This record gives sequence, structure tokens and C-alpha cells, in this order.
Amino acid sequence: MLTPAEQYDRLPPETQRLLDEINFLAAELRDHLLLEQFYLALNALNARLQQLHPEIACVQGCSTCCQTQGNQWQLLPMEWSLIQRALQALPQAQQLRVQSQLQQLADPASGSSCPLLLDGRCAVYAFRPLDCRLKGYSFSQERLLPMQPALPQAFSCLAEQQRILHDLKRPGRALFYMFFPQREALQQVLQRIEPSDDQSQTLAHWLEQHFEALHSAA
Ligand code: SF4
Repeated sequence: MLTPAEQYDRLPPETQRLLDEINFLAAELRDHLLLEQFYLALNALNARLQQLHPEIACVQGCSTCCQTQGNQWQLLPMEWSLIQRALQALPQAQQLRVQSQLQQLADPASGSSCPLLLDGRCAVYAFRPLDCRLKGYSFSQERLLPMQPALPQAFSCLAEQQRILHDLKRPGRALFYMFFPQREALQQVLQRIEPSDDQSQTLAHWLEQHFEALHSAA
């Protein structure tokens, strides 16, 4: 009588891959359903904002913020947990590139590009954290730039902020920005999904811990 592991070993590779994916997705649904529902709703919201404002430059493919601020985002443990699973599912060569880019961050001259940005694309795009999803599609109470200090500012790159400020001066355009979500309110949703003391850490910090653990286990 074969054990389940032995039966698995005898399956064709394509069937093994299918079973691996089903196993992975089932675990995702069990462990991350609420977070993923939230992300799906946010994707739908962003898609509609993009329809309302076709001039928003933050559609998939722009990596300006990833290149300039990406390693500074603060992630809660559950956000990191999703990214870590996606990272572990990447081909080994890509994982090594992420590790190498992380190590380069130690050199201040190398800039602050996100280590997960590979060839101008996010290697974990479908699993990216909240701030990456909000960039370009929310306003923030934080003073990101000393412009119009009495108003919330677009949570986006300088070019987008300036475009929106210019647009807001046009008659009737303010209405089109009233429905942008507020970043801080959506951050609170994460706290409702998984109430915890603030255990957020930078993406670079989580990645360092991840690769250190791999190194220790080897
Ligand atoms: S996680 Fe992805 S989307 Fe977010 S900053 Fe890094 S590369 Fe960009």
C-alpha cells in the first residue's frame, strides 16, 4: 500500500504541478481570504478610478514609485506573509536577484529601489502590499510635500501630484476627486481584518529576516 507521498511521487509532473497549485490556493483561501477579498475590492475600485481618470499614470507598468520609495513601505505581518509565499514560489534565479538587490540597498549610493522590482516589473504584483495598491489612487492626510498644506494630498509621485493640482484648478473638476479613498482610512481596514499592535516593518526589513532565516537553515 503506497503512502500519499509515494503516490504523489509517481504522478506525472503536470498533475503534481496542478496539485501543488490547488494546495497553495486552498491554503491561501483558508489563511488570507479576508485580506484577499479586501485587495480584490481595491483592485475593482482602482479600475473604476482609472476609468474615471484615464490620465492617471499609475497603471501597471509604471514603476516610478517602486524605484524611488519602494523599500520604505511599512508592511503588517499579514501583508508580508502573502508576499513571502509569492516570493517562495518564484524561480530560484529570481529569488537570488531579489536577494542581491536587497544587499545593494546597504550602499546608499545605490538608491532606494524596491528589491522586488525585476526588469521594471513587480515580481509579486498580484500580492503587493496596500501602499503599492494605493499609490496614485488615494489621497493622504500626511504632508508628503509642502504643497497646499490645507488640503489632503494625492498619495502619488510628484509628477502625478502636480498634474492633479493643475486639474483641480479647472472648473468642475473637484467633483471627480471626491471619491478617491483616503489612505489612512484604508490602512485602518487592515487593522480590522487582523487586529494587532502595530508590528509593521519596512519591506526591506521583512526581506532581510526572510533571507537570514534561509541562510541559517541551509
Ligand atoms: S512590492 Fe512591487 S509594487 Fe510594491 S514597491 Fe515593490 S516592486 Fe513596486
